[in-house]
Amino acid sequence: MTERRCRRCLLEEYDQEAYLRTLKEHIESTPPRERTPEAEYRRRLAACKDCGYLEAGTCLACGCYVELRAASRRGRCPYKKWK
Ligand code: SF4
Repeated sequence: MTERRCRRCLLEEYDQEAYLRTLKEHIESTPPRERTPEAEYRRRLAACKDCGYLEAGTCLACGCYVELRAASRRGRCPYKKWK
């Protein structure tokens, strides 16, 4: 059976555990050649944590989920705080 995914949830309805599980599965399924090395991934996330555009895992400058963007080698910060 295909898992249903709600695309129109309010934050108060959001299943945090399901989000984290989906996030981890997505990152782990990314081919290693496309995945950001762990040290660089952590450096990127540290920059996001210090950034005023971060809101509940989302970059308010571009709307991305920062952990997904940071996990991709091709991911870029719209304000060039990391690349
Ligand atoms: S991607 Fe860039 S602008 Fe967005 S939260 Fe991270 S550091 Fe800030």
